[in-house]
Order: sequence, then structure tokens, then C-alpha cells
Amino acid sequence: MNRIAIFPGSFDPITIGHYNIIQRASGLFDKIIVAIGANSSKKYMFPLDQREAWIKIALKEFENVEVEVYNGLTYKYCLNKGAKYILRGIRNPSDFEFEKSIAHFNQDLSEGKIETIFLLTESAYSFISSSNVREIIINNGDFSKYVPVNIVENILEYQSTLQK
Ligand code: ADP
Repeated sequence: MNRIAIFPGSFDPITIGHYNIIQRASGLFDKIIVAIGANSSKKYMFPLDQREAWIKIALKEFENVEVEVYNGLTYKYCLNKGAKYILRGIRNPSDFEFEKSIAHFNQDLSEGKIETIFLLTESAYSFISSSNVREIIINNGDFSKYVPVNIVENILEYQSTLQK
């Protein structure tokens, strides 16, 4: 059976928390598509192509992980891709409450064709969020422990352009 999971998110930027979820899920599914949602009303710090490039560099070691940008409803994108699973990470009760409602919508809208699979964060990463990592980057702090090792140099380059 071809178990395909979509891992949707903003990844603004990808953190070590996201990386850990993908690493642990990569053995559970035949293929994972990391899907950057492009049509949300959210404001992002990093442009879409920048976020996509960093994710690709960060995850290049995983042979069964792909990266794509998508528009529209997540459940429709899953059905188009032949994916039965949505992968999400849970850090705390407020993540759970938020995720529960979205998972129920996706289950309902897809008429039971899509299951959302939650992985609990590893405790060492439970405090890490893209929003806090963004603040550290903008304010010239040491973000290196909080992002995948492969993209530290890329983000340092970006950070140096902010100082000019
Ligand atoms: P979104 O804007 O859809 O919340 P994010 O990029 O912030 O997208 O997060 C994508 C997914 O990764 C979400 O399920 C989120 O809960 C999960 N996630 C984010 N940070 C962590 C972390 N430190 N540990 C585990 N899961 C995380």
C-alpha cells in the first residue's frame, strides 16, 4: 500500500521542531509531501520561494520526502495527490485544540477519506516555534540551535543582509 502523507504548514522558517516531526514520520509513510500553503491570509516574513528553498536544503537527506507549494483547501490537495493522511505536530494543549477543529473539518469535508495523524513533539523541541525563531533572526541573535543544521549558513547570510 502506498501511504502518502501531506505535512502542510507555513514553515516561516522551517525549524528543528518541524525537522524532527518529518524525520520521525519518514519511517511511517512511503512518501511525505511537505506542502507550503500559499493562499493563507497570514503575513509571512520570508518569501515563498525562500521558504521552499530552505526546506529543500534542510530535508535533502530524506529520499521519501518531497516539497511543494499548494493553493486552496488542504483536503482537496490531499485527494489530488492520492494522499490519505495529513501529518501535524502537537506541542501543547493549545496546538491540540486548534488542530482538533481543523482535523474534524478535513475529515468531514473529505467524507472520511482523509485521516489526520498527530505526532507529539519531542520534549526538547516543545518550546520552538517559527515565530520565536523569526524574532531571534531579525534581532541578530543566535538561532543556530533552532533550525536544521543544513540551513544555518543560508540563514546567516540572510541575517548579514539585515545588518547593512
Ligand atoms: P501553520 O501555519 O500551519 O501552523 P507551521 O509551519 O507553524 O504552520 O507548523 C506546521 C506544523 O508543524 C504544525 O502542525 C505545527 O504544530 C507543527 N510544529 C511547529 N513547530 C513544532 C515543534 N517545535 N514540534 C512539533 N511540531 C511543531
